[in-house]
Amino acid sequence: MFFTKESSLCRTHLNDEEVCSKDNCPVQYLRKIISYMDRATQSLDVCMYFLTCQSLSNAIVNAHKRGVLVRVIMDRRMSSNGATQTILFYNNGVAIRLSYEDNLMHHKFLIVDNDLVITGSTNWTMSAFFGNFDHLVVTNQHSLVRPFVDEFDRLWKIFSKSQKDVEDLPSAFLQSSFNDTV
Ligand SMILES: [Zn+2]
Repeated sequence: MFFTKESSLCRTHLNDEEVCSKDNCPVQYLRKIISYMDRATQSLDVCMYFLTCQSLSNAIVNAHKRGVLVRVIMDRRMSSNGATQTILFYNNGVAIRLSYEDNLMHHKFLIVDNDLVITGSTNWTMSAFFGNFDHLVVTNQHSLVRPFVDEFDRLWKIFSKSQKDVEDLPSAFLQSSFNDTV
């Protein structure tokens, strides 16, 4: 999937049933990503630097609500940006861990049922989907999926110390919402 400058033109039909004939229609791509997430039956692991997209966040919460084991890793600094969906996840009981190192947690990948990976340069934000030059790759090739599964498990362990940060999220969010602009 490639997102381009022209992707912004598709924003007008984001909520329509309209079938778009454009190459690289970001609305079709978004729906495709959501459909992969909706098909998860066992696990959904999301590792995302910046996550503000409402429809993808809803798909994460929906998976959690239907009993899928959902885990989300986010960059600590970005997670307290007022635009992120961190509080939505927190309020819905989705397991979150935050990077606590000074280094950026800059990954952008999703693993569905330890069987399929979606990854690339694209943060899950509307500006990335509708206007950035970005890309995503979808693969279920075992030799590619396996290292992502291992890396997610490794990061999940490394960031286990972030539990305190997650518990402090509501107050951190309130503070940051006064300071941050989206
Ligand atoms: Zn379109």
